[in-house]
Amino acid sequence: NQYGIKKALERLGVQEENKGASTGNIWIVSEEKYIGSFSPADGALIGKVQLTDSKSYEEVVLKAQEAFAKWRVLPAPQRGEIVRQIGNAIREVKEDLGKLVSYEMGKSYQEGLGEVQEMIDICDFAVGLSRQLYGLTMHSERPGHRMYEQWHSLGIVGIISAFNFPVAVWAWNSMLAWVCGDVCIWKPSEKAPLSGVACQHIVAKVFKENGLPEGISSLIVGDYKVGEMMSQDKRIPLISATGSTRMGKIVGQAVAARLGRSLLELGGNNAIIITQNADMEIAIRGALFGAVGTAGQRCTTTRRLIIHESMYESVKERLALAYSKLVIGNPLDEKNHVGPLIDKEAVNMYLNTIKKVKEEGGVAVVEGGVLEGEGYESGCYVKPCIIEAENHFEMVQHETFAPILYIMKYNTLEEAIGMHNNVPQGLSSAIMTLNMREAEAFLSSAGSDCGIANVNIGTSGAEIGGAFGGEKETGGGRESGSDAWKAYMRRQTNTINYSDSLPLAQGIKFDI
Ligand code: NAD
Repeated sequence: NQYGIKKALERLGVQEENKGASTGNIWIVSEEKYIGSFSPADGALIGKVQLTDSKSYEEVVLKAQEAFAKWRVLPAPQRGEIVRQIGNAIREVKEDLGKLVSYEMGKSYQEGLGEVQEMIDICDFAVGLSRQLYGLTMHSERPGHRMYEQWHSLGIVGIISAFNFPVAVWAWNSMLAWVCGDVCIWKPSEKAPLSGVACQHIVAKVFKENGLPEGISSLIVGDYKVGEMMSQDKRIPLISATGSTRMGKIVGQAVAARLGRSLLELGGNNAIIITQNADMEIAIRGALFGAVGTAGQRCTTTRRLIIHESMYESVKERLALAYSKLVIGNPLDEKNHVGPLIDKEAVNMYLNTIKKVKEEGGVAVVEGGVLEGEGYESGCYVKPCIIEAENHFEMVQHETFAPILYIMKYNTLEEAIGMHNNVPQGLSSAIMTLNMREAEAFLSSAGSDCGIANVNIGTSGAEIGGAFGGEKETGGGRESGSDAWKAYMRRQTNTINYSDSLPLAQGIKFDI
């Protein structure tokens, strides 16, 4: 209450007990039990949400199908106008939603606000996009023929999201999907369902004010079992799933089995190469925020630092000093740099990883551990740690969603890029250098194998204007900016004959 959470929840329409299945303004009763959402900040129960059962799921899908028939025929710029209004509605509740995200997920209030800002930004992007869903025009090989392509809406987009970006990932997907003429069914993470409930209230109001039908935006709530209802449902042509690689492999296979499309945004194992030509101030600040921001719970968190041997000791020292100044505590208190992990299970994974990596030969430069005492009652606060390790260690190859930073040395840039790429994941990457040859080598086709490669910027904190996503076990999907919208539409090639004969393609003769 000290942080005004109660008032924020009230204004967002989040109650103590919420129904979990919604087609917009209609909230459907399920027979299933409630799941509680507990804040990792203080351990308190924030509210409960009903689990969606198969009967309410069915109702949601039927409404979505009906809505699609109407929504897809609205001209795209008019759909953009609705998204513009949604952007404004989000602007009005930015502080409240940012607070809820911070309290429910545990990221700092500043980062909560940043996440909501990303939602607003993607709305603006989508509004412009609604007039730019361009297809190409081709020259036909046949006389008197015209050939072009157009992009049509796809249908229902099923969105499965992770706990760590409880609202922005949904916005990246749904705002684009909506201007593309699709309708969305969203299953937020079971670890942050109230953020989902809040978003659903925000958009439902806008659809209603514009006299639009139920089913353009739907919400379902629950764990993997509810997610499976969507991944196995052939009425849903596209599943956009964000989460662990483990989840992506299951969802990807389920969707592929019915020849549906999936857009997968999975785990990362992001590294920064710090060369002897780095601007040290930028390198340290970039690595610090990348490694400890959101308590190491970003898919783009910096997990590995690959440091030139001549700089290794000084980087190590400077980072250790910076870590000693970190203030860990309640994410809503703006003096704190680092908040909690999402839950105790995540704390156990963090502890387990530290133990295992030490068994493999890792040596702590900054020790980790769980914080206890006043302010840390939830049991979810841990110390960001730094461990000297080798790239091939099992734990280094694996993404642990916690603030554990591995540091390692290199001698030649070729060796550094080799180490950099030698992990199963391929999301975000960076090089810190003022040397043009090093930077360009890193960005070349023989350089970083990630979906995101930066120079003199850390690995986290991407802008919405670029396509976001990664290669290898990160899943290959791209969301957000650039031409990521194409994943939400189906391409149609059209050839029109305006001549008075019927020439066949490839010069084939077929005369009777
Ligand atoms: P998670 O995989 O445990 O859960 C993610 C979502 O998938 C949840 O909504 C969950 O209910 C659902 N799910 C799990 N198993 C499922 C199944 N078999 N069928 C259908 N749905 C299923 O991930 P998490 O702990 O919430 O999030 C952390 C992970 O997400 C990290 O690996 C992180 O790197 C990744 N992530 C990736 C990106 C990206 O854009 N690449 C962004 C954010 C998070």
